[in-house]
Amino acid sequence: MQRRSLLKLGAALPLALSAPAQLAARVMSPFARVRPGDPYWPTPAQWDELRAAVGGNLLEPQALFAPCLAEAGGAACADVSQNLNNPFYIGDQPGGTQVSGWLDAWTPAPSAYAVKARNAQDVAHAVNFARAHNLRVVVKGAAHSYLGTSNAPASLLIWMRALTDIRLHDDFVGAGCVGKMAPTPAVSLGAGCMWIDAYTAVTTRAGRYVQGGGCADVGVAGLVQSGGFGSFSKGFGSAAAGLLEAEVVTADGRLRIVNACQEPELLWALKGGGGGTFGVVTRLTLRTHELPEFFGGAWGTIQASSDAAFRTLIARFVGFYSERLANPHWGEQVKVKPDRSLEISMVQQGLSREAARAVWQPFFEWAKSSADLRITDELGAGGHKAQSWWEIQGNPSMIPDKRPGASPNHGYWQGDQGQVGAFLHGYDSLWLPAALLEPSAQPRLVEALFSASQRKEVGLHINKGLAFAPPAAVEASLDTAMNPGVTEAFALAIIADGERPTYPGESRPPMDLDAAHRDARAIDAAAAELRKVAPQAGSYLSESNFFNQRWQRDYFGPNYPRLKDLKKHYDPEGLFIVHHGVGSEDWSADGFTRLR
Ligand SMILES: Cc1cc2nc3c(=O)[nH]c(=O)nc-3n(C[C@H](O)[C@H](O)[C@H](O)COP(=O)(O)OP(=O)(O)OC[C@H]3O[C@@H](n4cnc5c(N)ncnc54)[C@H](O)[C@@H]3O)c2cc1C
Repeated sequence: MQRRSLLKLGAALPLALSAPAQLAARVMSPFARVRPGDPYWPTPAQWDELRAAVGGNLLEPQALFAPCLAEAGGAACADVSQNLNNPFYIGDQPGGTQVSGWLDAWTPAPSAYAVKARNAQDVAHAVNFARAHNLRVVVKGAAHSYLGTSNAPASLLIWMRALTDIRLHDDFVGAGCVGKMAPTPAVSLGAGCMWIDAYTAVTTRAGRYVQGGGCADVGVAGLVQSGGFGSFSKGFGSAAAGLLEAEVVTADGRLRIVNACQEPELLWALKGGGGGTFGVVTRLTLRTHELPEFFGGAWGTIQASSDAAFRTLIARFVGFYSERLANPHWGEQVKVKPDRSLEISMVQQGLSREAARAVWQPFFEWAKSSADLRITDELGAGGHKAQSWWEIQGNPSMIPDKRPGASPNHGYWQGDQGQVGAFLHGYDSLWLPAALLEPSAQPRLVEALFSASQRKEVGLHINKGLAFAPPAAVEASLDTAMNPGVTEAFALAIIADGERPTYPGESRPPMDLDAAHRDARAIDAAAAELRKVAPQAGSYLSESNFFNQRWQRDYFGPNYPRLKDLKKHYDPEGLFIVHHGVGSEDWSADGFTRLR
């Protein structure tokens, strides 16, 4: 692990502006960002000033498939096509997005320029340049935004990929917190790290645990700022709940170190208030925990022969969940499918193989003995030593990054392969309240799940609802900007679908738009069935509907007014605007024009 000393800058780092640029900044309309070709777009000489300030790391990003448009048979085009199934490759491209678009919502588009930041000073230079020249800014970590919030045409991209320092602390005390905060084991992560980097350092090497994301190649800063869940969140709370300190460059170009003792309100906003909104995070320090002895799971698929038998199967599972699984051990997914099957792919922390099997035995025995049910994928449960969970080598569940020179520590879950580069037809999510597990409410929940599954597969992400988590995890998760409804939900229901990658410029058969729109409508219809039993349910901003009209309430609940005040305080000019981000309602959909 590379350990470089982290920057400690307390003051602004203004990039010297030439006199014409200062004049231009004064006379430009504050209500519209400039685009290439506009009179006030920076001159080549001004871009050169920025390039020099950031040590030459100013790029002109290309669309992923630009090489294929230039020369379809060329080596560069072959390189993109061959690597398109590798999320690490996509993340390494300044014009890369891990989602190739969303029907009627957004299409990937490269920025006009990108600063590939090496450190916080580079970020401050980029922020100051963008503010002075009235540019549209976009920030990118590992590029996993479903909502497309880390790419924007005609913008200046601040690209965090290269900030990959990691430092473990036995006794972390935040800046300015001596005597006010108990020393805490923690890890500091550069904002370009992905979760696999964090898990390798914290778990595989140091035998501890940090709460991060489930998908190994997701970026640490994007996930924490949206709240963030991993497979074991039911035991440890949201990822945001573990944030002790952040280093962030705000719209005024200042590098701030925020924690419980310094600017605690900004720390709170960064805990789930949304990425690309309050500033550019350059470093995060997260609490680490004792590693449970075991990690494991339960798996298998059961198919019912009739609608009646499927209702019985769902009801039996809901009852079983509520009696035996509604606790900090069990997370991840159960899918309720249109072909009348229930697919179990759950994980657990803290239970040995024998203990995990004992939990599931009654349910498995019932399923195997029922004449109306068929086991279509073998049922099982288990557990093993937790420390090897994220090991790449010799782990059949992990796909390594096989490119020459790639880090041997980089790999991703087989189960996430289908998502790499996917094009979305639709997506929605809602937190299902634990009150629906009350015996008197269970029949309504079962009927809603059955009806929804007739329209589209429903994924119950048990780890993304924090009811039944330990009290300390709930308390810490409530001290974030997320919708507090997350702590009363037993699961996040996700309904989503799409198709194989469809990047602009990629050679592929034309999309069947009618079928794609039918699919989108089916997703909406399934979500509507679930909303009948949870009309007030919130939604997880990182995994939500691009077209959600009540996103402020759904993502943040009663926290929205507080977030809006903080946005006005830290970014009064709206330098950081993303789709469905705090304050974005004051801007046009493309983020270029201030509406009010
Ligand atoms: C395949 C896939 C799997 C996923 N799995 C999970 C999961 O297991 N659990 C979960 O909770 N979520 C998951 N997500 C959602 C994911 O957590 C969010 O999309 C997250 O915001 C991605 O962060 P990123 O850095 O990878 O993406 P990016 O697209 O780079 O960033 C996402 C947002 O955060 C902003 N941002 C990124 N870095 C910074 C920074 N340093 N400072 C300020 N703003 C920044 C960007 O501007 C953008 O608005 C998944 C998404 C995908 C596509």
